Amino acid sequence: MSRDADTVASVGEIATLRRIFPRLPESSATIVGPGDDAAVLAAPDGRYVVTTDMMIAGPDFRWAWSSPTDIGWKAAATNLADVAAMGARPTGLVVAIAAPTDTPVGVLESVADGFRDACEALAPGCGVVGGDLSVSEAFTIAVTAFGDLEGRRPVLRSGARPGDVVAVAGTLGRAARGLRALFADAVDTDGTPDARLATDVAARVPEVAVQRRPQPPIAAGVAAAEAGATAMLDVSDGLALDASRIAEASAVRIDLRSDALGDDSALALAGGEDHALLACFPSDAALPAPFRAIGVVLSNASGERGALVSVDGHPYDGALGWDPYSGWDGAAG
Ligand SMILES: [Mg+2]
Repeated sequence: MSRDADTVASVGEIATLRRIFPRLPESSATIVGPGDDAAVLAAPDGRYVVTTDMMIAGPDFRWAWSSPTDIGWKAAATNLADVAAMGARPTGLVVAIAAPTDTPVGVLESVADGFRDACEALAPGCGVVGGDLSVSEAFTIAVTAFGDLEGRRPVLRSGARPGDVVAVAGTLGRAARGLRALFADAVDTDGTPDARLATDVAARVPEVAVQRRPQPPIAAGVAAAEAGATAMLDVSDGLALDASRIAEASAVRIDLRSDALGDDSALALAGGEDHALLACFPSDAALPAPFRAIGVVLSNASGERGALVSVDGHPYDGALGWDPYSGWDGAAG
């Protein structure tokens, strides 16, 4: 049997892991790496940030639209962004994958390459320190990420104060534009995602690359914390919805400027998955690169639930985010 025909079932878990692990990026925080029952990571701060996020074939991605390397990249990037959004530096990932038994080992090797590429590009020094492999009908990746606060206070969602500047680092709405193009033109007549059509769409719509491999500005999370950010999160579900989460947690309102949101402010407001960092800063703070101001924090003395986010002073009532099952969904509430 050729190497290309090797599947998870034919090769077995141990041999599969033996092929995957050499491809994975190493963590500079590793004290004990892969090979023991658990890894040991340095946590010189005495605290560590930890988060988890999973991706499942079907609801979260489609094989016809993303390569295995894209999938590994995105699973890493989304978790790295959550660590960065706390003001921490990502130090290590553990990755659990459940795959159908007929999954080629080469697919898992390519997923591992995506983790390596994303860590090297987005969070140098962060690596995969352990993992698990199991069997499932739906291909599933569950990532747990750890981060080091390096003595800083964690940046929560609840610290925004009236008068703060609202700023963003990273792109807005590009991943959503890519996904919209795929849903429009990369499905066959009965609505099934089609790989060949996706290749055509990707050649025509550059934002498909952002949907496949988001580029969250991971180092900007630490920069924001050092600059005194009062609140922060990563924009995963749409700027308007994620801004409302800061507003609600901080008991404030947020007013965004449409002229700061690019040519298609509607898409920027509703589109998530770019994993930009959205942060609030005291008005006298110097915004660290690459943050740019997009709005201001206002008081919410009346405690209104209905108008947590406004655009150019008008309550936001547009789409909240892209739902792959129902299209653009909901109105702001
Ligand atoms: Mg997040």
